[in-house]
Amino acid sequence: MKSLFRFLLSGACASTLALTGQAQQIDEPYNQKIKEFTTDPRFLPSSVLDLVNDPKIPSPLKQFGQIVGAPGVLHRTADIYGYFQKLAQTSQNIVNEQIGTTEENRPIQMSVIANAATIKRLDYYKKQLALLADPRKVSPADLQKILGDSKVVYFLNGGMHASETGSPEMLMELAYRLVTGQSEEIKAIRDNLIVIINPVSEPDGWDKMVDWYNRYTKKRKDFEDGMPASPPYWGKYVYHDNNRDGLQVSQAITKSIFKAYFDWHPTVMLDLHESVPLLYISTGTGPYSEAVDPVAIGEWQIMADHDMTTLAAQGLPGVFNWAFYDGWYPGYGIWVANNHNSVGRFYETYGNAGANTFMRDLANAKFAGDNVTSREWYRPYPATEKVYWSFRNNINYMQAGVLASLGYAAANGKLLLKNFYQKSLNNLAKAAKDGPKAFVIGKQQRDPAMATYLVNQLRTQGIEVHKAETGKNQGDYVVLLNQPYRNYAYSLLTKQNYPKEAKFPPYDAIAWTLQYLNGVNVTQQDTLKYELSDLKLLTADVKYDGKIEGEGTFYVVNYKAQNTVLPAAYWAKSQNVKTIVLDAKTTLEGRKDTLAQGAVVFSGLTAGQAKQLAEKFSVDLIATKTLPSVKQHEVSLPRVAIYHTWYQTQDEGWSRYTFEQRGIPYTSIHKDHLKKGNLRSQFDVILVPRVGGTGANFLHEVDTKFGPMPYTKTAEFPSHGTPSSTDDMTGGPGFEGVAELKKFVDEGGVLITLDNSSSIMSDLGIVRELKRYEAPTLFHPGSIIQVKNRQPSHPIMYGYPETFPIFKGQGALLQTEKRDRGMMLMQYGTKPLKEEEEYKGLVMGMPDKKEVKEAKPATPKPEPPYVLSGMVRNEQTIIGHGAIFNVPVGKGQVVAFTFDPLHRYLNHHDAPLLWNTILNWNALR
Ligand SMILES: [Zn+2]
Repeated sequence: MKSLFRFLLSGACASTLALTGQAQQIDEPYNQKIKEFTTDPRFLPSSVLDLVNDPKIPSPLKQFGQIVGAPGVLHRTADIYGYFQKLAQTSQNIVNEQIGTTEENRPIQMSVIANAATIKRLDYYKKQLALLADPRKVSPADLQKILGDSKVVYFLNGGMHASETGSPEMLMELAYRLVTGQSEEIKAIRDNLIVIINPVSEPDGWDKMVDWYNRYTKKRKDFEDGMPASPPYWGKYVYHDNNRDGLQVSQAITKSIFKAYFDWHPTVMLDLHESVPLLYISTGTGPYSEAVDPVAIGEWQIMADHDMTTLAAQGLPGVFNWAFYDGWYPGYGIWVANNHNSVGRFYETYGNAGANTFMRDLANAKFAGDNVTSREWYRPYPATEKVYWSFRNNINYMQAGVLASLGYAAANGKLLLKNFYQKSLNNLAKAAKDGPKAFVIGKQQRDPAMATYLVNQLRTQGIEVHKAETGKNQGDYVVLLNQPYRNYAYSLLTKQNYPKEAKFPPYDAIAWTLQYLNGVNVTQQDTLKYELSDLKLLTADVKYDGKIEGEGTFYVVNYKAQNTVLPAAYWAKSQNVKTIVLDAKTTLEGRKDTLAQGAVVFSGLTAGQAKQLAEKFSVDLIATKTLPSVKQHEVSLPRVAIYHTWYQTQDEGWSRYTFEQRGIPYTSIHKDHLKKGNLRSQFDVILVPRVGGTGANFLHEVDTKFGPMPYTKTAEFPSHGTPSSTDDMTGGPGFEGVAELKKFVDEGGVLITLDNSSSIMSDLGIVRELKRYEAPTLFHPGSIIQVKNRQPSHPIMYGYPETFPIFKGQGALLQTEKRDRGMMLMQYGTKPLKEEEEYKGLVMGMPDKKEVKEAKPATPKPEPPYVLSGMVRNEQTIIGHGAIFNVPVGKGQVVAFTFDPLHRYLNHHDAPLLWNTILNWNALR
């Protein structure tokens, strides 16, 4: 490891002294403090008592003057990392390593703990685990030898969600215990395991939270007072969805977890969360992902039951498993383990979003139909309906659970390693026995940039991709399935069959078929049609360089809604090059093929610029000497603002991230900008990404009774004010600000609203033609479904065929009166609404038509299925309803999407519907 920092002391350290027989003293003052900060002896498991008082290695009490979990105390990331560095300076049982750097430039540091002999051989153990991860490299004769000389790596992940404040603090105390402890249990962990601790996996969010707590929420007396429990931003872009980035691997937190995974192949990864009372241990209710090996499903149960039993033995109430979460979606951070033949699991302990003690009410907490205070097979000893709950209680529960689980791993190392190997072997066996043999990403693609993106994404997931370097299909990318991650590759590239009869609602999206999400053509081969000698394993990311045909200074893109065309237009503008959109079909001079409506022309590029554009944006260009004289409009690239509220920044974060990745300039605005007004003179387009709530939430935002609440950078709160700031988070834009937004549209601006934000604009009356459409029986968890392009000649629909897939989750729907149906550019499903079907009966007052006998087709053409991947219940209640509306308001336009084309940087095939709106903002009527 390049950046492995070792701080090894020469000479004897405390643990060596202890090994020579000198008994270690229990740190009694520490015990006293634990007891003082725990609200009930029943919340104090014996395993978290009795830290030793090491003469050389500082305990958290010695380091900070306070034990971990003291009321009112949270430490910033730098202090936490500093403590781990102090441990590494004073003990041979721990080393630290930087595994990443955040978006706001903070290091991400993890720690490795084991006995001193193991610490000296870490690289060796890494190699052993890499061998076990790939049975193709292990001869059966060597297996026992490798198993006998390998160690389980147990990865503990803390601090992912900023408001869940226990784990970064708890992990310091745990580290001290593991490094110094001399009990049989702790020695077994240190001798048999390699424990990796990632104490603050999202340092940007953690620091904002620590400042938030000290600035605002420390003074709270009532947990239910409605004050925002955590800062408006966690990471620079992504809030709670930092745990929904495992498919995209777009954020630094995920990149660092992935790096740690592929460096170490941890046998078990445990993510420490907080939400439900008092401790939930993951197994999930199912349905479980079809890609997860039955061995892993068994391991989830065994480990959960083990932890629950160990905590029961210590008399802890309120511990349960099964009844929360499902086990279906593969995109959580530590699912990198489940997706790659390790075990990924999590805890939810009960947190107070800070370090206060509160009376908490569990009366309304129901999971899988049962109240959390009910006694069940999966919850043998429930808690009382009210609990007086402290920060230290939370830390006790979390630490006792982790110690139990580490104990299990230390006692069952060989079994866990054998299972890890077996799961990889099962993948290879399945590839040999079941189909298909390969997936092919052919070289002919509608959007070559997305095809190479998909190839690179598969590689990021550790999936092997080959390229046909020779032979008749030269240039194709081939995913051969005889690889240890076969099941995951299969899951990513085929339809998800979520069971319609599942008993509980899914925990997250239920479909992720990557070729649909990326708009890439992927085919399946049940027998391999490539010569293996033609295929070469990719060892680096790939890129498509656009090709240029023809001659001339007009460079034409045969437009098929490629993701990179709008960014290319912004780049062209920076080079003083004009962009033109052809609003009719055309045939270019000297060519036989016809270009569809919406072709994009870069006019007057030099040959060098054209080459640069084609390569930079992976688009093919056709050079021509004359500009076709069909109907056309010149592109005037808009000044775009992206709006955010102060009560929910999740999806505007993803929007900002997507714009920046694509190179589309924008200005971030919020309520203060609306109130100031004068919007039309500053912006041409305002995008309101998906935000929850109603019109009233949007208008008022955070309650003014908490105001003023500055979110500004100060010497005392240096992490605040990023990425946006205000002197007062409360009050929202108010009626005056919303009036300014309406004025912006009236004066010719384009307001684009995504998903629920579209309903908000309808609530507020900014767009009166759209009304909420209620479909109470519709159950539409995130799935990939079919839509119909109702107006192929509208610029927003340019480049898209008559029907195509998009990703859609449960979200508010809108409808117009029948007379305004022309505003509906795109609909869900392919069938029209009943009221739009053509009337074929007689009309009184009109001459009777002669009955026309229609020749019945032999077999009626079947409607294409609505659901392409995932599951929807009562889909008949959405089919025919609007997915995109284009509504003239005053001199401007409201373009309302009832789904999110910028969903988590995942559905790249849908995003160009938004790019079309931006590119053609002045030609939408
Ligand atoms: Zn969480």
